[in-house]
Amino acid sequence: MIIVLIGPGGVGKGTIARRLVERDPRLWLSRSWTTRAPRGGERGDEYEYVSREAFLAAVAADQFLEWAEFHGNLYGTPIPPALPGRDLLLEIEVQGAIQIRRRFPDATVLLVVAPSSSDLEERLRGRGDGDEHVARRLASAPQELAAGRAIANAEVVNDDVERAADEILSILEGIRRDPHAPASQRT
Ligand code: 5GP
Repeated sequence: MIIVLIGPGGVGKGTIARRLVERDPRLWLSRSWTTRAPRGGERGDEYEYVSREAFLAAVAADQFLEWAEFHGNLYGTPIPPALPGRDLLLEIEVQGAIQIRRRFPDATVLLVVAPSSSDLEERLRGRGDGDEHVARRLASAPQELAAGRAIANAEVVNDDVERAADEILSILEGIRRDPHAPASQRT
């Protein structure tokens, strides 16, 4: 099973993804490659931070399951190792999710949304991003949401990390029980 978390930057999907793998040992969280510089406050294991040259060499060698350019930086999911008995969890932006859906039509795409746009702004500022960066991210959020809604199986509001994780885990349980039921009937 492939589960893809999408949603506007700053919505908290990274925190939810980490919580999901802590709670469900069947989930295996992919570590992406990026050409963006580490952000102050990042631990340094969030991504494999690489140069643009190294990234493009990996693209040429067909080493990504999907990759995309987002706000001037490249991000990609390396082809995962064999994962017997495990489910692959990706936390990516929407162009990558569209590629995954094309490649794996059964992938479950979950759109994580903020309770309100003021909440999203507060979270982006709280990460220490500069004003210009926050403004760019907020300006692109409506398109990301619209594109996300077009492909998502279900939408989850991140009003509380634990509650959002509960909701996602119950959606995943529903899929494991009945892989062919529509996501709307699984919760
Ligand atoms: P950030 O720079 O805030 O860490 O990430 C920016 C956006 O890139 C987020 O929406 C994040 O989910 C997405 N992203 C992270 N890793 C990948 C990846 O491997 N592929 C794609 N397509 N997007 C990614």
